[in-house]
Amino acid sequence: MKIICIGRNYIDHAKELKNPLPTEPLFFLKPETCQLAKRMPFFIPDFTNDVHHEIELVIKIDKVGKHIAKQFAHKYYSEITVGIDFTARDIQQKCKDQGLPWEKAKSFDGAAPVGEFIPKQDINLQNLSFSLKKNNTEVQAGNSKNMIFTIDDIISYVSSFITLKKGDLIFTGTPAGVSAVNKGDELLGFIERKQLLRVLVR
Ligand code: MG
Repeated sequence: MKIICIGRNYIDHAKELKNPLPTEPLFFLKPETCQLAKRMPFFIPDFTNDVHHEIELVIKIDKVGKHIAKQFAHKYYSEITVGIDFTARDIQQKCKDQGLPWEKAKSFDGAAPVGEFIPKQDINLQNLSFSLKKNNTEVQAGNSKNMIFTIDDIISYVSSFITLKKGDLIFTGTPAGVSAVNKGDELLGFIERKQLLRVLVR
């Protein structure tokens, strides 16, 4: 399986990092070693002192597809949750400054924990709020209505370059409010009022 992540999909987050707004989806990949087993803590790697949380809506691909038309994209996933696109911001900035790929900053072990999936039926994907609490204080809050590119836009776009397979995950971008995590932090991820994700930082 592979993990596909969308960057700069919320205007407020693109602005907070002083990035230009994309005219087409920006995506990058994380390997399956970025998954974090349930109840395992997230360990900050020793090559960085500035790992940021990025809470994101995450969908799981149900079946294989390539060149998926936008109007059929909804048939390729049935569940949604939240996940954290952990990012070594110091390393990412160096990569950006030098025009280099982001893998060192984004693709380390455990850098893509995901919560419990819930069925997408019965929820309004066009107006879905989600949030992250750090040590019981809300630090990020977003709503799918503020995405620059919708989930179906993303599936259609990405599948024009890469075959999507059953079990692949797509992280759909983070809203504003990213900040550093520290050893001992407890991170809780929510869709609406329902807690779906808990990660302890070590
Ligand atoms: Mg992200």
